[in-house]
Amino acid sequence: MLSTMQDGHLSIGTLLRHGSTVHAESEIVTWTGSGSRRETFADLGKHAAKLANALRGLGITGDQRVGTFMWNNAEHMAAYAAIPAMGAVLHTLNIRLFPEQLVFVANHAEDQVILVDGTLVPLLAKQLPEMKTVRHVIVANGDPATLQAPDGVEVHSYDELLSRQADTFDWPDVDERSAAAMCYTSGTTGDPKGVAYSHRSIWLHSMQVCMTDSMRLAESDKALAIVPMFHAMSWGLPYAALMIGASLVMPDRFLQPEPIAQVLATEKPTFAAAVPTIWQGLLQYLDANPQDISHLREVVVGGSAAPPSLMHAFEERYGVPILHAWGMTETSPLGSVARPPKAATGEEAWRYRYTQGRFPANVSARLIGDSGEEMPWDNEAVGELEVQGPWIAASYYGGSQVDPEKFHDGWLRTGDVGKISPDGFLTLTDRSKDVIKSGGEWISSVDLENAVMGHPAVAEAAVIGVPDEKWDERPLVAVVVREGQQVTAVELREFLADKVAKWQLPEHWTFIEEVPKTSVGKFDKKRLRAMNSDGSLDVTHF
Ligand code: AMP
Repeated sequence: MLSTMQDGHLSIGTLLRHGSTVHAESEIVTWTGSGSRRETFADLGKHAAKLANALRGLGITGDQRVGTFMWNNAEHMAAYAAIPAMGAVLHTLNIRLFPEQLVFVANHAEDQVILVDGTLVPLLAKQLPEMKTVRHVIVANGDPATLQAPDGVEVHSYDELLSRQADTFDWPDVDERSAAAMCYTSGTTGDPKGVAYSHRSIWLHSMQVCMTDSMRLAESDKALAIVPMFHAMSWGLPYAALMIGASLVMPDRFLQPEPIAQVLATEKPTFAAAVPTIWQGLLQYLDANPQDISHLREVVVGGSAAPPSLMHAFEERYGVPILHAWGMTETSPLGSVARPPKAATGEEAWRYRYTQGRFPANVSARLIGDSGEEMPWDNEAVGELEVQGPWIAASYYGGSQVDPEKFHDGWLRTGDVGKISPDGFLTLTDRSKDVIKSGGEWISSVDLENAVMGHPAVAEAAVIGVPDEKWDERPLVAVVVREGQQVTAVELREFLADKVAKWQLPEHWTFIEEVPKTSVGKFDKKRLRAMNSDGSLDVTHF
């Protein structure tokens, strides 16, 4: 029997219409370095219409791809709204990709137009001649004359182009299963892989971001979106904000601890989202330059494991709870969120909060062991995590669902290794390629990192496996010491003695200025391994 209910597409166009009318007064605030510029959601509706008219005028039709090479700001937000709502596909280009990867993704997605921020023009200009399908570049927040366009590419001023457009647009009724936006994930091997989100997957995911037991985004929030809009859709904040009417604070290119602290002091956001390295940097800055940040009701940390020491520091020193979450570009990205069950209090609640979190109803999970068997959820058995659900990728753009490395039986292989408790909380022990295999046993590099980062003199610690004749692999710890502090490898080993099993105690230590980071701010262990193999690390051995 068919239902008697109405049907309607869950589309970005409906989110834009809703946000710009029902939440007309909510704002997008963009930091300028010395202050803020503001746009209401009502104005965003007009702004998006002008952009859509401009793109139509440049020949964008159907599901053509429009790339963005931009910071988090009001113009990028207009692109997020306008491009999918007009039926085209938003392609967020990661400004930190290696040049050859950037060229690859623009060509692979067949981007027709690229919107670029003025300060990023020099970065784009170098690769533009190799981007074969790009016909127009629109320069926002800067001078288009700074871009020497290759033959066949026209350059436009964003402001000038939009000033000639009508502020209404006849938004089409877009099929919810069609692609709305795409984002490439930069794997450590091979070419980047494109994930194409549908209107429907974004809609459902936005509802999840707003759910009480998830990120809890609400109309009363002012959310500081530090996580870049070119990294896994800024964790869904832009679309969820339109859905619920939360104001957004965009840091633009000002991502260092000092300007972030300034944005906090000026705008007093209630919520923020970023990877652990951003919070580590901010913590060091705040410890040296104290400021009240208790206006933050909660901040979400994900993208890499949130060290428990970081969670305690923010909560106990600044009164700001950190919510730990796990996800991937392929999972839209929200996969799990670590809110303790209602019965847990005190230490037990903290133990839940350290985990990567509990799966929502729309994300099914299973653990697969070494020989392909499904592992129990007993918080002990360890296996590779596989997930399934309506906002999880089923294939890569231009690829096939038959890709045994990443997809099988309709499940996404995450490459993450961990365990799951009977009540559905995930604890990741590693990426499968980062696990240290020592004498037939596995050592979790994440557990060691968390333990070392628990030392008050340590700002950051990254652990990699290094070849060992006897044990196959042993851990090497690369430590960044907190400014103004001192600590030796001997002291750190002693500190670990009662925190990890004796056979796991690392015997290789090195002190470095900074842990190398990937294009999205995570520890770049591949580079750390290369630094170790080419002898550029000064290693102490026990
Ligand atoms: P990306 O697609 O760049 O966002 O990377 C996704 C990967 O980041 C995941 O597969 C995990 O390996 C890692 N990751 C994300 N969140 C967490 C977390 N909370 N704890 C540990 N690793 C994480």
